[in-house]
Amino acid sequence: MLIPPLGRCVGNARLAPDRRVTSYDSRVSSLGQMSLRHGRPMVAIPGPSVTPDRVLAAMHRPMPNIYAGPIVDISNSIFADLPAIAGTTSEAFIVIGNGHAAWQMAVSNTLRRGEKVLVLESGAFAIGWGEQAAMSGATIEVLPGSDNTAVDPLAVEERLREDKDHEIKAIVVVLTDTATGVRNDIRAIRGAIDAARHPALYMVDAIASLACDPFQMDEWGVDLTVSASQKGLMTPPGLGMVWAGEKALAAHDRADMRVGYMDWASRMNATAHYHLYNGTPPISLIYALREALDMILEEGLANVLRRHEILAKSVWAAVEAWHTPDGLSLNIADPAARSNATTTITTGSINPDELRRVCEEEAGLTLGLGIGNFGGRGFRIGHMGHLNPPMLLGTLGTVEAGLAAIGSPTGSSGVAAAAATIGEALRV
Ligand SMILES: *Cc1c(COP(=O)(O)O)cnc(C)c1O
Repeated sequence: MLIPPLGRCVGNARLAPDRRVTSYDSRVSSLGQMSLRHGRPMVAIPGPSVTPDRVLAAMHRPMPNIYAGPIVDISNSIFADLPAIAGTTSEAFIVIGNGHAAWQMAVSNTLRRGEKVLVLESGAFAIGWGEQAAMSGATIEVLPGSDNTAVDPLAVEERLREDKDHEIKAIVVVLTDTATGVRNDIRAIRGAIDAARHPALYMVDAIASLACDPFQMDEWGVDLTVSASQKGLMTPPGLGMVWAGEKALAAHDRADMRVGYMDWASRMNATAHYHLYNGTPPISLIYALREALDMILEEGLANVLRRHEILAKSVWAAVEAWHTPDGLSLNIADPAARSNATTTITTGSINPDELRRVCEEEAGLTLGLGIGNFGGRGFRIGHMGHLNPPMLLGTLGTVEAGLAAIGSPTGSSGVAAAAATIGEALRV
């Protein structure tokens, strides 16, 4: 129903008789159900993250001339600003697609059919990248890991030392695994590769964690990085990014899995701006990402990372307060191996799907479901991107209310612990 502007209200007369408002009792409450979810919803899943109002507003513009003028300047400024976000001087390729598209672009531009990729397991996501490489023609070997610890650099070194003929051509790993909440030590894994004097291409998935967890592509010796727009970069899904260092670009020369649309060649040899996207630029997402990058630049990347660290610690404090032996626990015991972007919580005897349902349907909070081995035994809180204490404490308070609503055992107040953590960080 269209609501007439105030001042020229026409009353009910123009509505069909059966649409007349006779009572403000909603159909929901007339069924005897009650929900508190009315208000601004909160999405606390590990991507897509909350899109800031500024970013939403930036997209709301008509389509421009795509061949010249402001959109070309804005797009160029994004390409200019992307390297610093990943701690590199290497330029980024942008693929119109999600993180999977960035995975595909990375693999198809650097590998030859049948070449071996060593996948460093630490949950679901490196495995997913490896499976995609396998479907595209590579051979995959998984270095087994666990669901609650980071990749062990010594195990990487040991495996690479065994590979005397250098059959392994690429190593793939995630900075943050979004299923387990682990953060891998990317620099230490580089050290392991160097200690084994192994020449494999080192490729890192920073999709969940760019602008959340510290990442220095060049300093840490990463050859290729992939990311995407919808997590720490606070932009709707639809842009994948691949930063290719010198070694990755050299691999491109001999790669034989290259496919037309994904191929870096047409982008590197662009003679018109739109060639950088292999076609029409994703106009609205370009406006959005420009605004999001401006927000990060205004805050300062170091401050963005610090904010994520403090808010992540407050989540961990909350879960530790809630913890009971048969209830909630942090999946990653070692604080140094926890991501500042997302936290996976195991639920013991508590039904995580019932908790998520109550939080979403009755209270307007969407939590991440347990994925991979966490289906039915865990849930996730995404704390990436556009987030501040009221948003996060509201999220934690709603989880606490949800736990009470379903009669779950909890130790003490997670909200109090989280607020104390934030208060400590803010102490002057
Ligand atoms: C979200 C995510 C992906 C997948 O991104 P999509 O945009 O869903 O394709 C890959 N890797 C990690 C670590 C992620 O968090």
